[in-house]
Amino acid sequence: MTPPRNSNAVRDIANVLHPYTDHRAHAVNGPLVISRGEGVRVFDDQGKEYIEAMAGLWCASLGFDNKRLVDAAYRQMQKLPFYHGFTAKSHEPMIDLAEMLIERAPVPMSKVFFANSGSEANDTAVKMIWYANNAMGRPDKKKIIGRLKGYHGITIASGSITGLPANHKMFDLPVSDRFIHVSTPHHYHGANPGESEEDFATRLAEELDQVIQREGPETVAAFFAEPAMGAGGVIVPPATYFEKVQAVLKKHDVLFVADEVICGFGRTGSYWGSQTFGITPDILVCAKALSASFLPISAVMVNDRVFQALADGSATIGTWGHGFTYSGHPVPAAVAVETLKIYDEMDIVGHAKRVGGHMQKTLRARFADHPLVGEIRGIGLVAAMELVADKATHRNFDPGAKVGPRLAKLAEGEGVIMRAMVNDSMGFSPPLIITEAEVDEMIARVGRALDALT
Ligand code: PLP
Repeated sequence: MTPPRNSNAVRDIANVLHPYTDHRAHAVNGPLVISRGEGVRVFDDQGKEYIEAMAGLWCASLGFDNKRLVDAAYRQMQKLPFYHGFTAKSHEPMIDLAEMLIERAPVPMSKVFFANSGSEANDTAVKMIWYANNAMGRPDKKKIIGRLKGYHGITIASGSITGLPANHKMFDLPVSDRFIHVSTPHHYHGANPGESEEDFATRLAEELDQVIQREGPETVAAFFAEPAMGAGGVIVPPATYFEKVQAVLKKHDVLFVADEVICGFGRTGSYWGSQTFGITPDILVCAKALSASFLPISAVMVNDRVFQALADGSATIGTWGHGFTYSGHPVPAAVAVETLKIYDEMDIVGHAKRVGGHMQKTLRARFADHPLVGEIRGIGLVAAMELVADKATHRNFDPGAKVGPRLAKLAEGEGVIMRAMVNDSMGFSPPLIITEAEVDEMIARVGRALDALT
């Protein structure tokens, strides 16, 4: 059906340059225009209802209509709609939020820096590390290690750490200079025949050790990792992986940056993914669920060793020349403070663990034997269902067949918004407030879509 000439779809095609979109296909197919939200559901401009199985972009943790967050924003806008933190200015929402994050950090952290997005926060972490190593008198220690399929954002530095092809191809990022990638810790595709999770983890830690030795430990500054990979296809690390990786990093004095942009605030069934997987980060980056995504804000927490180096450097230069106009903006900061209070009151961790357990179990019970489903993986309230051409060999479909995107489209028809990621891995990362009954409804709708996929 051709949309009317003045429809949202037509105006969108005429004017919007969309993030993460095949622009030529979009000009033909047009957008799905979402007009309002209610709990875990959103409604399009034609009134059709969808369960948001991805919480938008893994982010709308409290759903799409939380009145307390709206009120917190309104109150703060009336009181002080803007102030900044440059040259030692401050304001209460920023102070409150920093204090709450330090109290909730998985390991002792010294200070919190605020930015507006996960990408900015990861870029900030890179610049902090380079600055700190200069201040510590080791100017050659600058290389950053990420992992293939890791996702850390799309700005120049964060995009260079990201290990997904679409974020690199034709963008000319400086990947080969200071940025290095090691293997994805995905047992289903990466393990040798008969290799246990533990042996696979040992092999990956050895690879990391060899890469650091090859580059020269005096040149390698930091390792960035999502506790469980998100956009790369929800990849839960094999048993003992982070324990072994951290031993290698410690040996070479390489900092660990935990990118908790998806895993933070209960998603994996602990407050932090670092706690779920026994990670002791030097720097922790968070965003998304920090403010339930009602307003943009991200944070970088640093331990005292890193902070002291930054402070030493700034004392010699007179200023630490980094910060954004909207770093710690009072309105998103006030919303984030309210978000963290809600998490405490509703016991977000207990809820995510309980309902997440139900989601993991039900996904497996419903889909594991399906001929098109190769692997169902996940932890807490994050999961992926990978579609394969051959269940026995784990062979994926040709990306040109667009099997995952076709399933996402069918699911949309059934009233579920889900996302097809690399290797036709279908993501589930619903709002953390989802109930067991809503999980069942979501899975039933996806089941109807999968049955219709030919
Ligand atoms: N890090 C992780 C783990 C993410 O999942 C994302 C976004 O999905 C980012 C960083 C980048 O965040 P943003 O899109 O806010 O720049």
